[in-house]
Parts: sequence; structure tokens; C-alpha cells
Amino acid sequence: MTITYEYEGALYVNLTNKCNCNCEFCLRHGKAQGSIYTEDSLWLEREPTRQEALDSFLSRDIPAYREIVFCGYGEPTYRIDDILWLVDQLKEKFGEKLPPVRINTNGHANLIQGRDVCPDLKGRIDTLSISLNAITAAEYVALCHPIQGEAAYQAMLDFAKEAKEYVPHVVMTIVDKDKTAEEIETCKQIASELGVKLRVRSFIDS
Ligand code: SF4
Repeated sequence: MTITYEYEGALYVNLTNKCNCNCEFCLRHGKAQGSIYTEDSLWLEREPTRQEALDSFLSRDIPAYREIVFCGYGEPTYRIDDILWLVDQLKEKFGEKLPPVRINTNGHANLIQGRDVCPDLKGRIDTLSISLNAITAAEYVALCHPIQGEAAYQAMLDFAKEAKEYVPHVVMTIVDKDKTAEEIETCKQIASELGVKLRVRSFIDS
């Protein structure tokens, strides 16, 4: 079972395979051949406990990584309480030597948890990478199929806007595949209005 794994100098953490979406481009569909994300080992036979995850961290040379990324083969914020606990443990152990911590997320943490998690991110999470994916709620639903329907789109935008009050770096991302230059420009405007940056990433990326 792969809990932590290295990718381009960063340490990635895989705590859950749960997700409230079913994105057309999700790497879990195994369409991106040859990527680490298509390896069967990222499918967890069960979710690791927070202690198992901590043990996996501590078996590695943590300060040597450029970044720690809670990513998963699923939506990591299903386990936000365990993420926060793990960061607290690592900060206590490594202090200033702890690399910056990022969460790659669909931005639905508040929907998933049924509470406002943003204040809890302060002082723990350095970067949030939030998938924007679409310029309208209808397009978002057609692409990502969130179980909450169109409400999930606005929830994601609201999360990005609020999170920037607590997290130093909030970045929204889109996958360049099937996006026109005009659509990418609109995504830039959406991000700009929320006060966050937009990163256009290729189909296989971190
Ligand atoms: S939100 Fe992420 S993990 Fe969930 S289906 Fe979409 S790409 Fe996959």
C-alpha cells in the first residue's frame, strides 16, 4: 500500500481514494499510460490510519524534499482532520526544516466536511492548489460530475476566496486539454476576481 511516494523532488501523500466527483479526465480512470498515477499501488486496500501515515513520513528524510503534497488518488480533504494532525506532528518534529505543505484539492472541503475548515488551515498549509476546471456551473457538472450538482461549483469558488485569508498561496488550476485560448482567458479572470492565481497545467501533471 503506497501512503507516501516521491515525485520530482516532492513527497506526495495518498490518504484516501474517496471523491465526491468523477471527473472525465481523472487519472484514476487510467487513461494516462505510463504515469505514476496509473500504478495500481495508489489504489488503497484500505485507508491508512493517521499513525500509519506518520510512520510512513518518518521512514523518510523529510527535510530533503522540496515540498510535501497531500494529493492522493482521491480528494484528500475527506481526511482534512488527519492532514492537520499530521502537519502538527511534523512541525513539532522538524520545525523550520519542514518543507512547505500543499494540498491539491477540488475545493469541496467545506461541502464534504459540513463545516468551514478554512481557519484550521492557517499556519499549517502553505499552498492550496484548487481545480477550477470550468467557466460555468453547468460545464463543471458535465466535466466533474460532483454528487452535489451545480452547487459544487460555487462552493469551490467560495472556498478559494475564503481560503486565501488563511493560506499564503492559493492557486486555481485548469487542465489545458480541450480548453480554447478564450476559455483560458476567462478562467484567468475568474481567478483574478477571487484574488488568486491561475495555473494552466498539462494533462499529466502534479
Ligand atoms: S476531483 Fe480529483 S480525484 Fe476526484 S474525480 Fe476529479 S480528478 Fe479525480
